[in-house]
Amino acid sequence: MDIRFYNTLTHQERSFEPLEPPDIRIYTCGPTVYDFSHVGNFRSFLFSDLLNRFLTAAGYNVIHAMNLTDVGHMTEDDVADGAGEDKMAVAARRLKEAKKSGAVDAGAVEDPDNPYEVARYYAKSFIEDAKKLGMKLAWDYPGKVVHATDHITEMQQLIQKLVERDHAYVAEDGVVYFDVGSFPEYGRLSGNDIANLKEGEGGRISAEHQAAKKHPADFFLWKPDPHHIMKWDSPWGAGYPGWHIECSAMAMKVLEREVIDIHTGGEDNIFPHHECEIAQSCGVTGHEDFARFWMHPRHLFVEGEKMSKSKGTFYTVSDVMEGKVTGRPLDPGVLRFELIKTHYRANSNFTEKGLHDSANTVRRLREFRQNLLAGADSQVTEVDGSHPAVEGFLSALADDLNISAAMAVVFEWISQPVPDPVEALAAFDLINEILNVAPVSDATGKEVDLLVRSKDESKLDPEALCRGIDEARAAKDYATADALRDELVAHGYEVRTSPQGTTATRMLA
Ligand SMILES: [Zn+2]
Repeated sequence: MDIRFYNTLTHQERSFEPLEPPDIRIYTCGPTVYDFSHVGNFRSFLFSDLLNRFLTAAGYNVIHAMNLTDVGHMTEDDVADGAGEDKMAVAARRLKEAKKSGAVDAGAVEDPDNPYEVARYYAKSFIEDAKKLGMKLAWDYPGKVVHATDHITEMQQLIQKLVERDHAYVAEDGVVYFDVGSFPEYGRLSGNDIANLKEGEGGRISAEHQAAKKHPADFFLWKPDPHHIMKWDSPWGAGYPGWHIECSAMAMKVLEREVIDIHTGGEDNIFPHHECEIAQSCGVTGHEDFARFWMHPRHLFVEGEKMSKSKGTFYTVSDVMEGKVTGRPLDPGVLRFELIKTHYRANSNFTEKGLHDSANTVRRLREFRQNLLAGADSQVTEVDGSHPAVEGFLSALADDLNISAAMAVVFEWISQPVPDPVEALAAFDLINEILNVAPVSDATGKEVDLLVRSKDESKLDPEALCRGIDEARAAKDYATADALRDELVAHGYEVRTSPQGTTATRMLA
């Protein structure tokens, strides 16, 4: 299969060949664990999950790492040399204020001044949300999730090498900076050039630090600071690492290579974060590339506008699943599909209508599978990728993950009569290994649901309510039957009564 991806580094789509087939090494910039991740963050993480699942289905052994940043990500890291405050310090202040005002979940972090506790709290919530959305990386071997603070030694080793190779220097202010002038390719990824970066950089950091640097775009690798929220001893004094050096160190350490196949991250990571990662990594290794392909999903908008805290549109996964957008609890498979259904290089628009459409799609897919299962007598068989639907689906994804074209193949297939349900079921399950929106059969043919259900569902026993509906109907007590049905519907279930009895499917109503 000819796989083609768009490479931000070369600004064009080209054939993707792994360095060491069948292995493919991917590094994804994960969240900074100082707050809950919102649906925009998860659009980007689910893109890397889709990439992982597609390459796995195409026969590769994907080794995927994602980091959790828990130190050194500054509030003004959108410029090359991050200034402002460590985001972990911002979290501490926010949590303390929340505690004072008696906010509901403020007690979750007992000691907001302990950044490790804050990081643990948000890291746990991130992993729970990722699991709910059926994400594969970070808990399935060989995927790994890595904490920045566990890799300080590796970061210091890289900084040491950069100093030795004259790519970094200790300035008069005691800070270790990367010398962008020593790396002529700086700007290759983002299209910036060093001369243009002079403008706009000044004034963002203190005059003392700015004056100490050789070039305004030089960025810090290690900042000595006895008062920082987290600090470690180093040859350059007790302090903390820069956000950019963290990812260079973790990617090389965890993936055990100096050059990796694919690096992903949200498009706002292109500059300065990924530009700086390339400069540091290539500065240390002397290789021309750090990652051969750089892939960047675009932004997510909410109802056509930028997400905004003041408008309340920074939706977390829990917000959406509990019904903040749709007024009803939502199936996690629906949210997953909504976040993967737009091509990653197009901005996606997160809307209430979109969620309803996704609910319909997921319902159709699950019904298709249910019908196959009924027709196939629950027998499970294996098909290879030569099934036309699987072939069409994979080859659409091989074209720079063209999910819309891939779904068009699926819709075309499921709208036709299916001659062999056993074969079709196996083909559907192969497709669903990538989409991961429907339950699948395990080796024994038993249904397993890879998506973790939302909390509130456990309070409700849909089977008992369905039995109640049937009993009430048998007793001609239609008022009770309707009341039970309404309760299920209010919890986001679709209720169907047939001569065989009543069933409830969890869905957006
Ligand atoms: Zn990163």
